[in-house]
Amino acid sequence: MSTILPVRHQPPLPLDRLIRREPPGAEAIEMDVLIVGAGPAGLACAIELSRLGRQAQESGGSPAELSIAVLEKAESLGEHSLSGAVVNPRAFRELFPEVAAGDLPFRQPVPGEAVYLLTEGRAQRIPTPPTMHNKSFYTASLCEIVRWLGERAEAAGINLFTGFPVDALLVEGDVVKGARTTPSGLNRDGSPGSNYTEPTDVSARITVLAEGSRGLLTQAYRGWQKIGSPNPQLYALGVKEVWETKRPLDKVVHTLGWPLPTDAFGGSFMYPLGPTQIALGLVVGLDYHEANLDVHQLLQRMKLHTLFRPYLEGGQLLEWGAKTIPEGGYYSFPERRFGDGLLMVGDAVGFVDVPSLKGIHYAMESGILAARAAFEALQKGDTSGPALASYDRMVDQSYIASDLYRTRNMRLAFKDGFFLGGAKAGLMTLTGGRFPGGRITMPSDAAVARHRNGATPLSPDNVLTFSKLDAVFKSGNATRDTIPSHLLTGPDITPEVAQFYTHVCPAGVYEEVDGQLRVNPANCVDCKATDVLGPRWTPREGGSGPKYRLM
Ligand SMILES: Cc1cc2nc3c(=O)[nH]c(=O)nc-3n(C[C@H](O)[C@H](O)[C@H](O)COP(=O)(O)OP(=O)(O)OC[C@H]3O[C@@H](n4cnc5c(N)ncnc54)[C@H](O)[C@@H]3O)c2cc1C
Ligand code: SF4
Repeated sequence: MSTILPVRHQPPLPLDRLIRREPPGAEAIEMDVLIVGAGPAGLACAIELSRLGRQAQESGGSPAELSIAVLEKAESLGEHSLSGAVVNPRAFRELFPEVAAGDLPFRQPVPGEAVYLLTEGRAQRIPTPPTMHNKSFYTASLCEIVRWLGERAEAAGINLFTGFPVDALLVEGDVVKGARTTPSGLNRDGSPGSNYTEPTDVSARITVLAEGSRGLLTQAYRGWQKIGSPNPQLYALGVKEVWETKRPLDKVVHTLGWPLPTDAFGGSFMYPLGPTQIALGLVVGLDYHEANLDVHQLLQRMKLHTLFRPYLEGGQLLEWGAKTIPEGGYYSFPERRFGDGLLMVGDAVGFVDVPSLKGIHYAMESGILAARAAFEALQKGDTSGPALASYDRMVDQSYIASDLYRTRNMRLAFKDGFFLGGAKAGLMTLTGGRFPGGRITMPSDAAVARHRNGATPLSPDNVLTFSKLDAVFKSGNATRDTIPSHLLTGPDITPEVAQFYTHVCPAGVYEEVDGQLRVNPANCVDCKATDVLGPRWTPREGGSGPKYRLM
């Protein structure tokens, strides 16, 4: 049995390209605060900042209006957003105390819940672990949440620039001065085409990185500034589908066990989105051991199980998508989440609680806290790192840190496999996180060896199960075929490594043809899984990628 060590084949981050030691150009758009990424973290940050600015103006404390810009790579708000989602409304209540619960952008209250342990032929209901209780929460589509937040941000006068992926941070010395977007209209060979548009520079006194899971600029900034963490960040890949169903689902469902091998960490979810739609997905930790494990294929197989099939039969696949989730938890927090002229929020720094599969309210809360730190720094006229350090202190005193501290070793326990991990996680719950004491150390996902095996491929029936290419079509992906590749491949790509990439990528971007790796960049849905385990992802021209509406 041959073994692949993914890290051996991964190119380094192109730091010189991502961190540009030059000031914003003469034509730069000037802002007080620039936020990269219009997800829940970035939009909550923008909305709180504008509220603080307005309050200060109304009370006569601040003469000038704050200028705030959000740059988002998706062509329209929400098109690159994907979540489960069951939402804890806590951060919404804090940010919108005047909005009634029924007017928040949720589909429905959680009607009930059940957890099952699956084998191939059976679903055994088990008691709901305390970390997975969802009473008084809501099901929702993150695309809809983001569109709703965007409307509020625009009404507050925030400049939302969609279709503007950020390509680089502009720095002078150690100070972040703004950012540069990608050019668009390049030919496949990288030369300017007939529709070529130059990059745009935005200068800002404070730049907030809210890029979400495996944020590229966050990785680059941390690499450049050498900001470590006790454990490396760990990731999972989630593949998700939204179905129109004839049979309403009356509870939130989670499963453990099959179709995952026992040495992989993960599980599935099925959530009602009103009476005629369900969201269904499979999440798998990227530290699995089998080189042929394929999350998209496993989800297709899973839909044929007696637990899921009755809800899907006679229904219709509406949308498909995929995205990574940062899973390292408390011990993967960066040592600092601020710098000179810079703050980092949300999934970009890993504010996700894996045992409860929640990140939306933590992302929003971190955005709110970053806004408060940024506002104070702007008022004092000092946006240096020490002036922005209050953000870290606020996070450390918030429920983000206390919740994730309580579950600090739970995901990590599963590195020993499902059954031992499950037993340890149970003890951790009982002891409020005190067992086993100390920190379980983890290698990065790319440093985990993969063993080749002979997995049986599934032939899609195009009714309940679908190929990767059909799935990408259902993501709405409309990237032009002539786009240059935004994926950087590494050295020594053997046919086995190429095969490994074909399984990692849920969107069929990689193929192994005659022993060579073939890359189809236009298929990419920006999930970032191979950025974790193989070829590096970089931003491409605005408007590329998926066009999610329901995810
Ligand atoms: C399968 C799955 C299930 C989940 N289930 C739940 C759940 O049930 N409940 C829950 O609370 N949480 C859940 N989460 C986690 C939750 O979705 C995240 O924690 C949350 O979305 C993080 O918000 P964010 O704003 O930090 O990042 P994101 O929501 O990822 O937003 C980041 C934004 O930045 C943009 N961006 C990235 N790079 C650039 C760039 N270079 N230039 C410009 N824009 C850029 C992206 O397009 C995106 O719009 C789930 C996640 C997944 C993947
Ligand atoms: S190539 Fe794109 S779609 Fe495929 S794994 Fe990487 S980021 Fe995801």
